[in-house]
Amino acid sequence: MLHYNDEFETPNVKVMRYCMNSFGVNTYLLISKKTKIAAVIDPGGEVPTLIDALKSEGAKVSHILITHAHIDHVYGAEGIKQAFPEARITYHSKDQIVADSLSDMARMFGVPSCTMPAQEIDLAKDPEFSVGDIQLRSLLTPGHTPGGVCFYIPEEKLLFSGDTLFKNSVGRTDFEGGSGEELMQSLKLLQEVIPDDVQVLPGHGKYTTMGIEKKTNFYFHVDRWR
Ligand SMILES: [Zn+2]
Ligand SMILES: [Zn+2]
Repeated sequence: MLHYNDEFETPNVKVMRYCMNSFGVNTYLLISKKTKIAAVIDPGGEVPTLIDALKSEGAKVSHILITHAHIDHVYGAEGIKQAFPEARITYHSKDQIVADSLSDMARMFGVPSCTMPAQEIDLAKDPEFSVGDIQLRSLLTPGHTPGGVCFYIPEEKLLFSGDTLFKNSVGRTDFEGGSGEELMQSLKLLQEVIPDDVQVLPGHGKYTTMGIEKKTNFYFHVDRWR
């Protein structure tokens, strides 16, 4: 079920967002305007819609980027991989344990299960990579899951924050492998590394900026997880 979609551009990339599935996950298509090489970030399903959009942009997918391996973020991974076999499945190996328990999570939420295609790029070994001419850097931000990452594009001032950071909130830490203390450390890292004028594109909900979150997000103003 697709809830809505929208898009915007920076000097060098086009970002298309599709909010979908019963969890309302944000799936992003990141397309280099110059090379038309693309990444699909957190494919939550609606594979035919995503493929149509990519084809109408003339885009070729080089990476399937997974901020973390929760089921709502990977429902469409297998389908995108089948449509674009050269697209490399990219996530942090510390989330392998989460990827291996997709069926448990499906049972817990009473939703259909799915399988995760085999990992091809481990962000633990290769935290920096490029999608066409676009340089990306992954930041390990555990807390919501052990191997959760944010994808940062300094040149375009974009941060795909997964379920680590939301507008005015943060991801739950009560799932298997979650940790409030780790999430606090991850927020500290983001605060240090990400400038105020960077746009934050979260795994759920509305866009925000790092500056707004540093000012107004409660979780940047507590020194201890309760
Ligand atoms: Zn999650
Ligand atoms: Zn999520």
